[in-house]
Amino acid sequence: MRSILLIMSLLVVATGAQAGEVDRLYVIDCGWAHALDQSRWSPGINAGVPIDLSDNCYLIHHSSEGYLLWDTGITDRLVALPEGQTVPALGQTWHRTQTLVAALAAFGVKLADVRYVALSHWHPDHTGNLDEFPDATLIIQKAEWDYAMALPQKPFSPDHKSQLIEGDKDLFGDGSLIILSTPGHTPGHQSLLVHLVRTGDVVLSGDVVHFQSNWDNWRVPDFNYDKAQSSASMEKIARVLDEKHPQLWINHDKPSSDARRHAPDFYE
Ligand SMILES: [Zn+2]
Repeated sequence: MRSILLIMSLLVVATGAQAGEVDRLYVIDCGWAHALDQSRWSPGINAGVPIDLSDNCYLIHHSSEGYLLWDTGITDRLVALPEGQTVPALGQTWHRTQTLVAALAAFGVKLADVRYVALSHWHPDHTGNLDEFPDATLIIQKAEWDYAMALPQKPFSPDHKSQLIEGDKDLFGDGSLIILSTPGHTPGHQSLLVHLVRTGDVVLSGDVVHFQSNWDNWRVPDFNYDKAQSSASMEKIARVLDEKHPQLWINHDKPSSDARRHAPDFYE
């Protein structure tokens, strides 16, 4: 009897009693930008050539942990500005057509249903609506949290319940969501490897790279926090692509973003 109990308990450990899987991923339009000069991201290349950038949030449903939101987009306040908001110093005009709360409500999800918000990095086009989720656990690299909280104007409330990560992490211990530390664009930038039951693996790469031609040509923006780290993080993502063959979803690449199914449709 004792040996049977022991075997049963070992099996629970081996299979993971709480193991779950990612059964849904929604791509949510969280804004877009018109930029006057592509060479801001590709130094010396396409100077003066405009480019449009997408800005998505990704709502992920995990079978035992519930909803995790990856990035929160540009602030919902822009919905009230039909002409968008221009940032002259950056040569960019940002737009948003629907609030995040309305986008989630369109497929029956309330802000309070979101248990975790994980951030690629602190920039405002990724953290614009974080404070709408005061009860969610914020998942962020410790280096990014420390940097953001030391800024003269904090990009989000310091009161979030947070899980500070150092390096890579199998988030729920079942291989379904793996945080990849990819610093360089910012000090504690991170990416997310998602294992979807039917679609397979997808890398949500935050701003490791901004659009497809920069990935194809290995270009790093001059304004990145650390260019050498940025290149190393691109190499890390390339290694993951070689080993696991995931799709690479480049957040700000508008042509590939437009081609993806958006909420309320989803990937399984
Ligand atoms: Zn960005």
